Amino acid sequence: MAERRRTKEVRIGDVVIGGKHPIAIQSMTNTKTQDVEATVAQILQLERAGCQIIRSTVPDMEAAKALAEIKKQIHIPLVADIHFDYRLAIAAMENGADKIRINPGNIGSAERVKAVVDCARERNIPIRVGVNSGSLEKELVEKYHGVTAEGIVESALDKVKMIEDFGYDNLVISIKSSDVMMCVKAHELISKKTDYPLHVGITESGTIISGNIKSSIGLGLILNQGIGDTIRVSLTGDPVEEIKSAKLILKTLGLRKGGIEIVSCPTCGRTSIDLIGLANKVENMVAEFPLDIKVAVMGCVVNGPGEAKEADLGICGGRQEGLLIRRGEVIKKVPEAELLEALRQELINWSE
Ligand code: SF4
Repeated sequence: MAERRRTKEVRIGDVVIGGKHPIAIQSMTNTKTQDVEATVAQILQLERAGCQIIRSTVPDMEAAKALAEIKKQIHIPLVADIHFDYRLAIAAMENGADKIRINPGNIGSAERVKAVVDCARERNIPIRVGVNSGSLEKELVEKYHGVTAEGIVESALDKVKMIEDFGYDNLVISIKSSDVMMCVKAHELISKKTDYPLHVGITESGTIISGNIKSSIGLGLILNQGIGDTIRVSLTGDPVEEIKSAKLILKTLGLRKGGIEIVSCPTCGRTSIDLIGLANKVENMVAEFPLDIKVAVMGCVVNGPGEAKEADLGICGGRQEGLLIRRGEVIKKVPEAELLEALRQELINWSE
């Protein structure tokens, strides 16, 4: 992996991104922001899953005002996502948003963008300048003969320059495209042209399967080049899944420590227990343990124990029973129905 690119530090509430800081994981609520109770409940669930920064949409004044109440009840920085109406950006900041995400291209005149920037400067609130391939300006589409990585980068840097000209540089940049390779190229280009921190994600990447695959490839290629300061895996699904995926992507790349890694076999004709069901239950169960170990879930006693040797703990299926293995040694035989609980108990012992 390339050395991480050193970017400017930007503080979002009590989380700092850029510089030498770890890559922060973020997500976005999909509740109605005006519904404070539902939004807070989802944010608290995301916090427990490991979300470090949360963004909520602010489509109207009621949502902007709700931010103040939401902020009182959560523990991670809250970012307001604004489109079109500069007054909503100002209201969001007045109601405690820790950062705002705008696309200056859809906020309107330069005066309106300036009003937003002036408000952010007074409160030292960072602005994420977000550009999506889908809303690239007509002139740039014509200049580059279509929607291209070069066009996306130029568009983002034009917006950044506009805000810099208003005397503000507390900025984060995001450039997004649902075309994975275009997104990768755009990040390679922009990282050579600016040292603002980059929020990285593959937008509109799809449902759980396609979103995870596209995000893993896109984020993997970008992060592996040392590019990126905060990530969001964007999935059409429960945002908690976005956090799980983001954590696994960072851990797989060696950019994050902690969290139990599961290895499990693909099952075959030798499997005599419900290994698929068990592996999924194990994956959910281990999420609550803050251990940095590997747990193997193997289907049979022919290959399982050998393969489980590589792991710290393992379970290995037999006929209506299974073996519990610790660092390659079988420590007990357990009925199938009790395997999950036996592993949980072993994890508790390990934690202690
Ligand atoms: Fe098949 Fe056993 Fe290998 Fe799993 S561990 S794939 S059940 S041989």
